[in-house]
Amino acid sequence: MGRSVLVTGGNRGIGLAIARDLAAQGHKVAVTHRSSGAPDGLFGVQADVTDSEQIDQAFKLVEDHQGPVEVLVSNAGITDDTLLMRMSEDQFTRVVDANLTGAYRVAKRASRNMLRGKFGRFIFVSSVVGLMGSAGQVNYAASKAGLVGIARSLARELGTRNITANVVAPGFVKTDMTDALPDTVREQILKTIPAGRYADPAEIAAAIRFLASDEAAYINGAVLPVDGGLGMGH
Ligand code: NDP
Repeated sequence: MGRSVLVTGGNRGIGLAIARDLAAQGHKVAVTHRSSGAPDGLFGVQADVTDSEQIDQAFKLVEDHQGPVEVLVSNAGITDDTLLMRMSEDQFTRVVDANLTGAYRVAKRASRNMLRGKFGRFIFVSSVVGLMGSAGQVNYAASKAGLVGIARSLARELGTRNITANVVAPGFVKTDMTDALPDTVREQILKTIPAGRYADPAEIAAAIRFLASDEAAYINGAVLPVDGGLGMGH
């Protein structure tokens, strides 16, 4: 059965791969974008996840277009890397506001209609870095670790209502985010990945496709690594 899906940050990178994959499964898929416009063939709504008003408006448009959101993929995220000693408070809070508080905002807005509809799938896109830590990413790692706490708490709050909340923790994926890394850093990272390569965004989407499905009803509060073995299952 086609579900009503919303993917935040679904206009490019991993989010776009997720949106295209779920649309190919027959779901009704909407994506948020900030200023780039909607990708071809997908329903786009403009929203910055740091702004509750914009999120509310975006959900209203999605609800009018395809019905209440049943599957929420909270994917929008940013990095702003530097060592703790140089990290300003603004650099810390800006990343947490987008990656973690943004996920709280969209999850909260989605939850009331999931409860009414007696069905829901929350999928939070975290990172291997949230579980293993990463020098120069105190802000990002904290935000990504926090998503595990959100998902597991939601699993406990809503588990009896046919609503699941899970986390996907990608390793290194070929997108604009990793293209921005210096070549030397990328080569060093490659040596640590058992698979010996970066992931294709479609490989993250495949895991999300399963967690979004009706068959995944008994998987709740899980963290699913998709990292080529980098985190050895954690
Ligand atoms: P990209 O930088 O390619 O894309 C990021 C997406 O998030 C864009 O769609 C962007 O929108 C959106 N976004 C960022 N900030 C906001 C905001 N405040 N409000 C709304 N949308 C926003 O990143 P990736 O595709 O690589 O990453 C997607 C997710 O996967 C992120 O959460 C990231 O942390 C995570 N991840 C990525 C990994 C990787 O190796 N690439 C590894 C592990 C996790 P816009 O186009 O408007 O900027």
